[in-house]
Amino acid sequence: MRMVGCRPLASHRKRDAPRPEGLDAVFRPRSIAVVGASTRAHSIGGNLLSNLFRTGFTGKIFPINPHAAVLHSVKCYSSVLDVPDEIDCAVVSVPKEGVLDVVAQCARKGIRGLVVITAGFKEVGPEGAELERRLTELVARKGMRMIGPNCMGVINAEPEYAMDATFSPTPASYGPLAFASQSGALGVAILNVAQSLKLGFTQFVSMGNKANVSANDMLLYWENDPRTRIVALYLESFGNPRRFVEITRRITKKKPVLVVKSGRTVAGARAASSHTGALAASEVAIDAVLEACGVSRSDTIEELFDLASALASQPLPKGDRVAILTNAGGPAIMATDAVIQQGLRLAELSARTKRRLSSFLPPEASLANPVDMIASASDVNYGRAAKILLEDRGVDSLLVINVTPVLYGPRAVWDAIMDATRGAEKPVLSVFMANEEFYDEARSMPSHPPIYRFPEPAARVLSEMWKIGRWQKKPRGTFRRFRMRKDAIAKILARRRRRGGGYLDPGDAFSVLAAAGIPVARPVFVRRESRLPAQAEKVGYPLVLKASGEKIVHKSDVGGVATGIRGAAELGAALARMKKDLARHGADADGYILQREAHGRELVVGATNDPRIGPLVMFGLGGRYVEIFKDVKFVLPPVSREEVLESLDRLKAGALLAGVRGEPAGDREFLVETILRVGQLVTDFPEIAEMDVNPLFVARRGRGGLAVDVRIRVSGRESAANGS
Ligand code: ADP
Ligand code: MG
Repeated sequence: MRMVGCRPLASHRKRDAPRPEGLDAVFRPRSIAVVGASTRAHSIGGNLLSNLFRTGFTGKIFPINPHAAVLHSVKCYSSVLDVPDEIDCAVVSVPKEGVLDVVAQCARKGIRGLVVITAGFKEVGPEGAELERRLTELVARKGMRMIGPNCMGVINAEPEYAMDATFSPTPASYGPLAFASQSGALGVAILNVAQSLKLGFTQFVSMGNKANVSANDMLLYWENDPRTRIVALYLESFGNPRRFVEITRRITKKKPVLVVKSGRTVAGARAASSHTGALAASEVAIDAVLEACGVSRSDTIEELFDLASALASQPLPKGDRVAILTNAGGPAIMATDAVIQQGLRLAELSARTKRRLSSFLPPEASLANPVDMIASASDVNYGRAAKILLEDRGVDSLLVINVTPVLYGPRAVWDAIMDATRGAEKPVLSVFMANEEFYDEARSMPSHPPIYRFPEPAARVLSEMWKIGRWQKKPRGTFRRFRMRKDAIAKILARRRRRGGGYLDPGDAFSVLAAAGIPVARPVFVRRESRLPAQAEKVGYPLVLKASGEKIVHKSDVGGVATGIRGAAELGAALARMKKDLARHGADADGYILQREAHGRELVVGATNDPRIGPLVMFGLGGRYVEIFKDVKFVLPPVSREEVLESLDRLKAGALLAGVRGEPAGDREFLVETILRVGQLVTDFPEIAEMDVNPLFVARRGRGGLAVDVRIRVSGRESAANGS
């Protein structure tokens, strides 16, 4: 990457975080040209200029418009080339036909930062895409950085810049939130919500078509920015998901990253014949990816701001124990339900806390958690009780609920709670069920912690905050590398690739698994029926008979699996039945498979290698009902043993393995090791497009297990590019 910054960047650079070069020219310029400026109200060029004046941009402003001499009492130039001073950044809002010329002039002028507001590029079809390609190429060739095109602009609310280079009617105040939005229209909504919540920004950027500056660039820009404490993204697509994973995994250890991801698939709906492939294309997988990066995903902008405003004003909880303080029973029950449902616990209050509360609360009050002070609770008692609850060492966070009673107005209660909890080291979230006047009043109060109208969003926010805190402290865990016979694997895969890729023959698939150190029930392939009894003697009873054929995808679908065969007579009967079933289904077997019978729980372990996301490993309840129960989790290798165990514990399959009602526990260690081995296999061999081990039989603890069915699809030569 070339050094293209217009001001010294070295001080920002740290070894662990390459800050994207040149973005300061966009976000921290000393001078801005507004190309296409005008004074027409309600025009984009007009709003851009007046917004820069409105916020009092600290640098120089140069309006550019060949048809005006003066705009907003400022001298206007007909081209950036006529401006005698240096210009760091140009905001371009001219008709799309003129954009390339303007950008070329900017390059000649030595301008390093561009914000292209103009629309009509990739988003409108092939012609626009071609124009965008030329624009992007020009920008890259000249070493400039460009936001957009097709965007609403950028804001840097830091007082040293006070730059609002957007055409948004709503301004942004300064605060701890950095926001990048892929949608310009939503950008306005975002600024509105932020204003009503009193939440301020360091920077806000509407990224538009992300032709040059991507969300990943913005994440890097904010990674070590000390003023940005919370990063939020509204995304419709991932440009480079793999890089996103890499970057966010690191950033989320330092500051929360909140994402609203709309558009419901990552990999797109693709026809997949494996269980893992089908499930990996689904929503579950995106959630898993985001979770594995420590990102907090919200479904809506509203949810995201519920969380962001709490993070802006409250510390993270150190544990999951919540105290609820209320003056009404019903909402406290709702809050209790919500707290439990969100995976948090109700705090067990100490005897001392109860004693202290009882010294001033009426005898009708309930001193167990939730602490119900009943409707007569005064503002003073709210304050005292809140303080006492926060002092209890068994309490990690406090949820205050107030339903406006007859005697005390909500404002007095709010003030008392604020006074009592200011500077607390534990988060306090407040739910006020009041009339509109109170919320209107709150809007005119100076910056303050969030006020929720109902307990559920507050409980969700607490739970997200707890997850964020836990994630930040979570140790890296233990990572293991297993010995595998890599040469043997590479040879098998290469052979398939030379023939254009596709599914491995069952024998090869089992060999790959075995070479990866995973125990398999070796299939013995028998082409001629007459050879079955003799081969069966060699395999040993009890055994399993399966039909084998290139067109047979799921053998049991066509009656091609017979289990529990204990002798030659049963084998003969099973074969006769199978042939009938196969014929009925019109399935062609080109031979049979004999296999030792396995015992234990049926699990599935699978993996996909999306060229854009990279490896993704899935595991869970296996057998025939994988897609029905969807009791599966995804992990992103490299993954630690602890992370796998944690996901496993959250599955029903995990509970089954732990042993249900006197049943013996399964061999969890074996399962975890198999998951890790599959992860290593698909990481080391990206040409494995997808694979399924289903079922993997997991025996009793200490007894290991066996893979009895394996499918591995190898990508063809071209599509195997595992881009980074
Ligand atoms: P397919 O997935 O193509 O239908 P499988 O080989 O996975 O075929 O077999 C289907 C089911 O038959 C398995 O889920 C399992 O219940 C049972 N089965 C298959 N092979 C064995 C075996 N070696 N030991 C015990 N049960 C088996
Ligand atoms: Mg199977």
